[in-house]
Amino acid sequence: MLRNDTICALSTAPGMGALALIRLSGSQSIELVARLFTGFPADLQEIQSHKSYFGKLMDDDSILDEALVSVFRNPRSFTGEDSVEISCHGSVYIQQRILELLLENGARMADPGEFSMRAFMNGKMDLSQAEAVADLIESEGASDHRLAMQQLRGGFSKEIDALREELIHFASLVELELDFSEEEVEFADRTQLKELLSRIESKVTSLLSSFRLGNAIKNGIPIAIVGSPNAGKSTLLNALLQEERALVSDIPGTTRDTVEEILILGGIKFRFIDTAGLRDTKDIVESMGIERTWSKIEDAQIVLYLFDASVDHKVSHIEIGEISGHIDSDKLIIVANKIDAADAVELENEFTFFPDLLKISALSHKGLDALKDQLLSRVNLGEVKQRNVTVTNARHAEALRKAKESIDRVDQGLDDGISGDLVAMDIRQVLQDLGEITGEVSTDDLLGNIFGKFCIGK
Ligand code: GDP
Repeated sequence: MLRNDTICALSTAPGMGALALIRLSGSQSIELVARLFTGFPADLQEIQSHKSYFGKLMDDDSILDEALVSVFRNPRSFTGEDSVEISCHGSVYIQQRILELLLENGARMADPGEFSMRAFMNGKMDLSQAEAVADLIESEGASDHRLAMQQLRGGFSKEIDALREELIHFASLVELELDFSEEEVEFADRTQLKELLSRIESKVTSLLSSFRLGNAIKNGIPIAIVGSPNAGKSTLLNALLQEERALVSDIPGTTRDTVEEILILGGIKFRFIDTAGLRDTKDIVESMGIERTWSKIEDAQIVLYLFDASVDHKVSHIEIGEISGHIDSDKLIIVANKIDAADAVELENEFTFFPDLLKISALSHKGLDALKDQLLSRVNLGEVKQRNVTVTNARHAEALRKAKESIDRVDQGLDDGISGDLVAMDIRQVLQDLGEITGEVSTDDLLGNIFGKFCIGK
């Protein structure tokens, strides 16, 4: 999988900008740039690592651009290879032309994630750290940024490696016994092994339990907005969007009856899922929509029930009853909308049972701050701040799940007194499962899958 030819790519976002960054990595990168660039010393050996040189980039005899070129000699570079970064002016023409010239001189366009893959292959970072780089680039709010940074700094890898170290020690003792099988000796103390297993199991379980929140923070805490047609759901979403002027992205795969909107509130990414109403059962398609609404409600971390306070409240009482029957009360936020048009006294009287009722006007942006505070208070960030390590990656969670099963198998095997070679095999399986997280154990398919999703130039 590892090739060491010289690759190049645009590392800044494509399109016009004030500046752009083009990156090269591979044994020829310095020499190759030197053919186009006037700023280097004549003797390439004199070019210093971690230093920037100013000069002209030449396109045959004419000046293409003035640029700043930084050199990183192996192994002290991101990829571990000789690398060069060209900071040029961000004209699309200049960017394209520099890349063309590099290709003409023997470089190759990098595949997606190829710089990171080389960093992994050269031992600059483990797999979970390489994945954290991708997460860091994609982070949109303070909370997903924090988690990516934690993972990048390697806390997670260290925990996994420490667990593996201890197990490797035991695996080798058990395997040693096999060489002396005639003598029936036991080098590996079974009681100690069981203790170790239970320690590893509880660590793995704790990591796994962090995944639900970690995943929600990375992809957005799911909030289902439920309410009858005309309750003001779209108006509320728009009002929140305007207030935050935050980035909004369309999530592919949304269906006719659910619209998802990403909104960053107080540094936390929320994924608002606008659901179909609960009560229109006019036709089959709509009743299917309602099925889906229920499943969205059950999956959501927070359910925001919105009703029109300016009309009769009978239906909303029924709906609140139905929703409360389906979910934990601490997931539910009840919001009375259109208070600008509602009878305040009547509302107060009819909802005395709901002291936490939020009263807003989506249209005139009233009560939105209280609503935002409510949303933020429902997300238990304390847990993330306390933990050194939060699992955010579905691949890691899957590997941990497999590891847990394998640990249980070893444990059960010890209880059943199965033979040493079988115990050793099961321990090896645990090592393999944990090793997949950091890339200690990896296959070309796995790597292709992970790095293929990175952007080009990373
Ligand atoms: P949805 O079907 O739940 O998405 O409801 P819409 O957001 O489309 O709103 C339905 C109607 O209610 C629209 O005419 C809105 O302008 C109106 N509306 C929404 N919020 C308010 C509000 O706070 N006060 C008043 N008076 N009208 C509102």
